[in-house]
Amino acid sequence: MRESDAMLKTHALRVEDSGMAEQWGRVRARLQAEVGDVEYRTWLKQVAFNGMNGDEVTVVLPTRFLRDWVNKEYGELITAFWQAENPTIRRVEFRTQAAARAAAPNLAEPASAPVPLNAPAPRAEQAAALDQRFTFETFVVGKPNEFAYACARRVAEAPATAGFNPLFLYGGVGLGKTHLMHAIAWELSTRAARSVRPVTVAYMSAEKFMYRFINALRSQSTLEFKNELRSVDVLMIDDLQFLIGKDNTQEEFFHTFNALVDAGKQIVISADKSPSDLSGLEDRLRTRLGCGMVADLHATTFELRYSILEAKAQRAGVDVPAKVLEFLARKITSNNRELEGALNRLVAHANLFSRPLTMETAHEVLHDVLKAHDRKVSIQEIQRRVAEHFNIRVAEMSSARRARNIARPRQVAMYLAKQLTSKSLPDIGRHFGDRDHTTVMHAVSRVSELIGQDAAFAEDVDLLRRMLET
Ligand code: ADP
Ligand code: MG
Repeated sequence: MRESDAMLKTHALRVEDSGMAEQWGRVRARLQAEVGDVEYRTWLKQVAFNGMNGDEVTVVLPTRFLRDWVNKEYGELITAFWQAENPTIRRVEFRTQAAARAAAPNLAEPASAPVPLNAPAPRAEQAAALDQRFTFETFVVGKPNEFAYACARRVAEAPATAGFNPLFLYGGVGLGKTHLMHAIAWELSTRAARSVRPVTVAYMSAEKFMYRFINALRSQSTLEFKNELRSVDVLMIDDLQFLIGKDNTQEEFFHTFNALVDAGKQIVISADKSPSDLSGLEDRLRTRLGCGMVADLHATTFELRYSILEAKAQRAGVDVPAKVLEFLARKITSNNRELEGALNRLVAHANLFSRPLTMETAHEVLHDVLKAHDRKVSIQEIQRRVAEHFNIRVAEMSSARRARNIARPRQVAMYLAKQLTSKSLPDIGRHFGDRDHTTVMHAVSRVSELIGQDAAFAEDVDLLRRMLET
């Protein structure tokens, strides 16, 4: 397919011609989400994509044992995911590396370079196709992301408004940057469908941008590439940090950027850091990136995580008890992607066994995920952090003083010790000046009570918990 064929001008969202390696990248990402990190690392990490022949995909494994095992245990899953990516695929052939080499003796190089499962790229969202689930309707708004959300909405409603161009979204992994970008694209496309004027939106990862630019250089079609990019109404580049150190691509991007802005077109960029913190980008590019609206997505709060889970469970039509949602929202604090992955596993489990979900099932099904999040934090560390936070001496954690300004932080530390470690109540008591386990119990219930009554206090405790958890 020629590059330009991939651009549909009808209310146009461009769906890129996804290469096999990218499809494999997505299959891999889904596998990992499906089976969890532990199983994935044990069995699936070593599967490599070898090539495609007609309607058959070949993947290779290092040994016969692994080939047979993976085929038997995961063959159906892998095939199903491949077919979801590419409906023309009928079957997946599992081979050992030696067999794969023997099968293609006269090829100097394999048809496609094998992409090992554990290669850093590509990740699921790097395909330019838009994810149907990433709309404004499915985006849960809370304090950490309300500003970014409002900006994204604004751009979708009125692209290229002064002050909002470029829109620069930044934040850590899994906080919703890609989701918001896709949402803008969907919104624009539905609007365009209702109006006479088609809107051309090009969305791609910075890596894809680079890849296409380099290809254009190679095939001496840079002019076409430029023209194509400069003909869009909205250009979105996701994960711009990938262009750091790629000077030629940056240069090209800079020119495209300028041409589009000068022509009154909208640009939306995402990155993991703010323009000023993206060291390694050329200064003039950095300056221009910061000229429009810069909005950051903050780390999620417990409330936001809870709402996201609630919304997703509802959408999936599965009744997840509040207690389980709360448990997940507390435990999986790293990012929304993992949160979603955990919920998906629970939902799949519930559907499979048509049993109501309980805390027990949650523990069982998410055993590995939870273990990964159970970073070992010591009581001493908790005491130190809490003392620091409330500005008291660590020694007060074990002292006999009962003044409120000392006793309260001590109770918080006990509460966190109960929540974040697997120590028993008597054990915790011993660390706090040999207090009785009933004192610890009292502290835990007092703090829980206060969390329900006093929002500022709740925030303090949540903040401490997150500091200790990461
Ligand atoms: P990023 O691009 O910032 O790394 P993504 O946009 O890919 O993150 O988000 C990761 C996952 O979390 C996606 O499945 C996305 O739908 C989900 N997600 C993130 N933020 C929200 C939110 N506020 N509401 C609903 N889902 C969210
Ligand atoms: Mg992203």
